[in-house]
Amino acid sequence: MQPQQLSAALAELDASHSRRTRLTLESPQGPLIHVGGRDYLAFASNDYLGLANHPALIEATREGLARWGLGGGASHLVAGHFGVHQQAEDELAAFVGTAAALLFGSGYAANLAVITSLMGRDDAVFADRLNHASLNDACLLSRAAFKRFRHNDLDHLESLLKSTPAKSRLIAVDAVYSMDGDEAPLAELLALAERYDAWLYLDDAHGFGVFGDGRGSMAEQGIAGERVIYMATLGKAAGVAGAFVAGSAELIDWLVNKARTYIFTTAQPPALAEAVRASLGLIAGEPWRRERLVQHIEMLRHTLSDVKYPLHASRSPIQPLMIGGNEQVMTLSARLREAGLWVPAIRPPTVPEGSARLRISLSAAHEAGQVQRLAEAIVAMS
Ligand code: PMP
Repeated sequence: MQPQQLSAALAELDASHSRRTRLTLESPQGPLIHVGGRDYLAFASNDYLGLANHPALIEATREGLARWGLGGGASHLVAGHFGVHQQAEDELAAFVGTAAALLFGSGYAANLAVITSLMGRDDAVFADRLNHASLNDACLLSRAAFKRFRHNDLDHLESLLKSTPAKSRLIAVDAVYSMDGDEAPLAELLALAERYDAWLYLDDAHGFGVFGDGRGSMAEQGIAGERVIYMATLGKAAGVAGAFVAGSAELIDWLVNKARTYIFTTAQPPALAEAVRASLGLIAGEPWRRERLVQHIEMLRHTLSDVKYPLHASRSPIQPLMIGGNEQVMTLSARLREAGLWVPAIRPPTVPEGSARLRISLSAAHEAGQVQRLAEAIVAMS
């Protein structure tokens, strides 16, 4: 791209209804947001358990700031690894059932870390077509052969595993798909990983805190073992920021030694690790949040069971209403906004061409009546 080409390229985005804009929040995250001087009922965040503004997390952060100060000040390997980082790592590992865990500043960095430090030129990575962009970037950056299989198609995956010569193999999936809300068949994937001697890498950004009594998809589906690598983010259901990778002690030691996005970046503020610890307490101790979420999901799916646009099959808080075209999704999203409802329209390239959708995301912070209001508005408009 040359400097003088930018205007025309942006105009092309306009023409295809795919130019992105950001909304600027004038309020904290939550079911009610204030944008452009107006209140909206929002179904747009990944704050699935309603913890992003929980007083216990805010208080833990405050105490963390008083105890540890604000800035991490250095990378973990230099002088930025604080006692509370270590405590949070130990607690996260115990919670998801692995020997060790490692904190990262973001899920994006965690995905890059693992895949680029385990895989290289002579290796092959096998990735579901609907994997998150950060996993795809990690696979590309690793320089391994990058084989993408049709979504949740185990036969296609096996045929690629069979036909791709490689020194080491890694299968990478989203445990819960971020734009579809459906899940990967983890036990079957582990069986294939065992048969072809591959790692199984699970990105559980959207399952941690939600499934398996909050312990995530790996715990819920009962899979474990030294070839399984678990990654979850802490900025979604956990309500804080960052991410962690969990696995064997040797795996974590390897990442500490080799993962460039771990080594060459400043440690997260230690106070946030205090918030993570407080969040774990609420995830484990307040199952009513998940129960309420399940009620919201059931009610939404029931009310929308015969509208013109189908809801994608999903038992997660991500409930996509499949619209199709970019223009139609933008129109519906705008009409909802006029009615005071904020539901993001998701378009290509985030999702495949022709599968634009409204990504409805539900939270335990929503009231039942708020979910009902959204469902009735959609029924009335479709
Ligand atoms: N993986 C998945 C499946 C995600 O949805 C996201 C965030 N949208 C990430 C990874 C990246 O996590 P983070 O926002 O912490 O960088």
